[in-house]
Amino acid sequence: MKRLLPTSTAGSLPKPSWLAQPETLWSPWKLQDQALTEGREDALRLSLHEQQRAGIDIVSDGEQSRQHFVTTFIEHLDGVDFERRETVKIRDRYEASVPTVVGAVARQKPVFVDDARFLRQQTEKPIKWALPGPMTMIDTLYDKHYKSRETLAWEFAGILNQEARELQAAGVDIIQFDEPAFNVFFDEVNDWGIAALERAVEGLECETAVHICYGYGIKANTDWKKTLGTEWRQYEEIFPRLQTSSIDLVSLECHNSHVPMDLIELIRGKKVMVGAIDVATHAIETPEEVANTLRKALQFVDADRLYPCTNCGMAPLPRHVARGKLNALSAGADIIRRELST
Ligand SMILES: [Zn+2]
Repeated sequence: MKRLLPTSTAGSLPKPSWLAQPETLWSPWKLQDQALTEGREDALRLSLHEQQRAGIDIVSDGEQSRQHFVTTFIEHLDGVDFERRETVKIRDRYEASVPTVVGAVARQKPVFVDDARFLRQQTEKPIKWALPGPMTMIDTLYDKHYKSRETLAWEFAGILNQEARELQAAGVDIIQFDEPAFNVFFDEVNDWGIAALERAVEGLECETAVHICYGYGIKANTDWKKTLGTEWRQYEEIFPRLQTSSIDLVSLECHNSHVPMDLIELIRGKKVMVGAIDVATHAIETPEEVANTLRKALQFVDADRLYPCTNCGMAPLPRHVARGKLNALSAGADIIRRELST
């Protein structure tokens, strides 16, 4: 029988200090060339080991193979000039210097497929692989070529579909698209954002997921969250359209956030990766706190469709904190499994 409440993480896990500066986003690599290749593989093995030790059911590379969840993918594409940078406002929230789209975007060769194959060789467990979503990709770039967010998103969707098909062939069980931008640009999400995502998953037989969060626990995000009021109803704007989409799983931020849990009712029928671990605090949840969040979610999602997860990636956290949180996630899920079996 399939295990009830399979646990996973939303994405990134901390990198070892010999590979990259810890507790930092966009942290430069400390190794080069062949040493970097081997170092990333070793870090992936360690990250996988920690997930398995903690009893995580659906494992990942912990994003050890990439510097950043969006830019590393884009670096491998034609048409984007990383030397030409412009300052744009990312997700309408914080300014950042980003690369420029100067010509037609294209993918000449696979980006993460070798890494996914390597992960597949290391474990028998189901594996999940994260890719950036089309809308989040265009939001991290300055576009001088297409001059249309929708057109560029559509181009990226086609490129992501090529990569996703090869990840599937490499043995990936769940392909996840990270779309934090879905929490900001509601009209575009409903007009073409979800359609572009469906283009990215076209023809796939493995499961597909979309991760929609309120971001890493960095200052720009925590400041933004303070402006959102006591009830965060952003999901309400996009869930009706998402419910009818071809995406199988939806990964959400739930624990310690002000998202009213009943909004999950709007995606009834989807598998829901319920964020039961807060990534914006170093405080490690107790198993009972995790269980409480899962119990609340169970009012709105059937038990066989509930996937306990983290709110977002844990790359910026100290390693011992991330490890503690993984253990708490497993132990909290165990509490609910026992309750459901009695
Ligand atoms: Zn996230």
